[in-house]
Amino acid sequence: DSSTFYPHRTFKVILAGDAAVGKTTFIERICHGHFTPNLSSTIGVDFRVKTIELDGKCVALQLWDTAGQERFRSLTKSYFRRADGVILMYDVSNERTFANIRNWIHNVEEGAGRKVPIVLSGNKVDLREDGCPPQGLCVSHSDGEKLAMQCGAIFVETSPKTGHNVFEALLMLAKEMSQVE
Ligand code: GDP
Ligand code: MG
Repeated sequence: DSSTFYPHRTFKVILAGDAAVGKTTFIERICHGHFTPNLSSTIGVDFRVKTIELDGKCVALQLWDTAGQERFRSLTKSYFRRADGVILMYDVSNERTFANIRNWIHNVEEGAGRKVPIVLSGNKVDLREDGCPPQGLCVSHSDGEKLAMQCGAIFVETSPKTGHNVFEALLMLAKEMSQVE
């Protein structure tokens, strides 16, 4: 029946986190299914749409990306106002991006003005498995999990390079968003 193809609901999902943590690559992996190294940060698309099946119904996910504004801290809190959910990302091989997560959560909550489902994604987990350069300085799974618990976020480690947990992360967020009235 046609309801399988026509979106039952549409959710606005914002990808957030420091520059170069892998947000654009994550969206590329979701929408094309392969790894795209060295993307230009000048790609100015607002969002891509991914439709998925959730509980037998088709839902559309708008995946909002930034064209590098996060680099200049010019992402205003109002950017999050109409978000249904946020994928908040850090790079497991870069502790500074992990240290900034609390600021990002603050901005999301202030900007949205309500509780928004957040998936905290420890990204580029392939680098930790390979042994981070310099070795031993990667953010551990348990540190990521602990922070997510403190912030009321869902935790997942991902890698758009290998595809590890990329679709799963999106599905976890979709399930959470579908439970919000
Ligand atoms: P953004 O600024 O957050 O959008 O980050 P990008 O998607 O532009 O990625 C920044 C850099 O990290 C690029 O060189 C990507 O190829 C690389 N990258 C992204 N995801 C992964 C990953 O899962 N593993 C590895 N090793 N590199 C990645
Ligand atoms: Mg980007």
